[in-house]
Amino acid sequence: MISKRMLLASIGALVCTPGAKPARAALPPISLERHERAMRAAIEQGRRNAAYPFGAVIVQAETGEVMGRGVNDSSANPTLHGEIACINDYVGRHGSTDWPSRVLYTTAEPCPMCMGAMVWAGIGGVVFGTSIEGLKRVGMDQIDITARAVVDASPFYTGMLLGGVLQGDTDRLFRERKRG
Ligand SMILES: [Zn+2]
Repeated sequence: MISKRMLLASIGALVCTPGAKPARAALPPISLERHERAMRAAIEQGRRNAAYPFGAVIVQAETGEVMGRGVNDSSANPTLHGEIACINDYVGRHGSTDWPSRVLYTTAEPCPMCMGAMVWAGIGGVVFGTSIEGLKRVGMDQIDITARAVVDASPFYTGMLLGGVLQGDTDRLFRERKRG
């Protein structure tokens, strides 16, 4: 589990990296408090699906304003993971615009489909709570490719990736999910 100190250190490293590429440089510094507030909004979305509490929000990086919301609806459509539902909600409200200044918060580490969609969007940042390893530990099937691996395989992508935000809360959400 990531400690608060480690988390802050990694945020600092991400924000202060010298020579950061343009999309990353466009993101303003985001406080841990701001990250946690947005993650609480993602958790609120996750609670709308008791069995698959994958919830997400897209926020405006500068203000923290929530501009899109979504929860896993894969029983209706297999591509509707929380992140994709959230992207669709955002695009429906605002159009496919301003991606470099948007950050998506999600209760769990994005799968390759979702991380791929966010790389193609050129989103400014992706922040998650529970890791893919954490999901596997509570018995959820996962494709064994980390979000970091997708980012590292996409040299044109310059967005921020951060994990472990409110992980205690998101781990509990998945551990205590409704099981069939
Ligand atoms: Zn996904």
